[in-house]
Amino acid sequence: MYPFSITKAPSTRQALNAGLRGGRYIAGGTTLVDLMRETVERPDTLVDISGLPLRDVTVTERGGLRFGALVTMSEAAAHRKVRTTYPVVSQALELSASAQLRNMATIGGNIMQRTRCTYFRDVTADCNKREPGSGCAAREGFNRSHAILGTSDACVANHPSDAAVAFAALEARVHVLGPDGERTVPIADFLLRPGSTPSSEQALRKGELIIAVEIPAHPRPLKSGYLKVRDRQSYEFALTSAAVALHVRGGVIREAKVAAGGVGTVPWKLPAVERALVGERPSERLWAVAAAHAAEGARPLTHNRFKVELLKRTVERQLRIVGESR
Ligand code: SF4
Repeated sequence: MYPFSITKAPSTRQALNAGLRGGRYIAGGTTLVDLMRETVERPDTLVDISGLPLRDVTVTERGGLRFGALVTMSEAAAHRKVRTTYPVVSQALELSASAQLRNMATIGGNIMQRTRCTYFRDVTADCNKREPGSGCAAREGFNRSHAILGTSDACVANHPSDAAVAFAALEARVHVLGPDGERTVPIADFLLRPGSTPSSEQALRKGELIIAVEIPAHPRPLKSGYLKVRDRQSYEFALTSAAVALHVRGGVIREAKVAAGGVGTVPWKLPAVERALVGERPSERLWAVAAAHAAEGARPLTHNRFKVELLKRTVERQLRIVGESR
């Protein structure tokens, strides 16, 4: 470890002021502290925001759900309204990390978490995300867990969050507060693909603070769920995952929301799969036809070609599970 200072923010305004002076926000600390120990990140000043009043799950006027940024993963997963209206979110949260981590980690921190690319976390390796311009050791290295969608020549790291995949499927919006007030960013625009600047990961301006994540209202009834495929059954990141939500009325799929995890540099929305589902009647054949679109545009690496087929099978299975549930 190295010397740094930490200050506890007594109010949102004081947190923002400290953030504008270059302070780094910390709440649960389940990612940042690890990265500081490994000297991947070296902030001079931490701003502890864990005491701010951002810890409620509320139903919005239009019937959506709003998670305060400091709601913990376990609080969000256990919330009655989340479990009954968006099981895809509670399932994604419960399949993440360990119980101890879920008790500490927050919703805001979860979508901000950084990649598990081993080269990113090894300060002796070339990594454009950690040290812009140094290269990408993963391209020619061991890249079994890396992304096959949304990659660039500069970076092929995948986004590790499960909850963000569920939020992406449901087209959640991120509320951020900055010196100019509050603004709302669709999660698809908030999390950035690497392009030529992989060190830039979120559409946050200097000093801005995530205050909430909001799922807009979706038509009812909505069946949903999350499937995660991984090397072991607990405390492991996804090789592939699928978040599926279906609104079926009169025997026809009227709305389909589908996203994949473990495969993209950001949570990967699957609009071609959604289009193949809407207007159709659920059937065995439909799940296979729709899931065949899941890996469109994939660019696999040396060690992760298996993800192309695995992704299609994961999506097909989860479409079947959700589509045939009561
Ligand atoms: Fe760094 Fe991205 Fe390459 Fe991993 S994949 S080494 S995070 S540039």
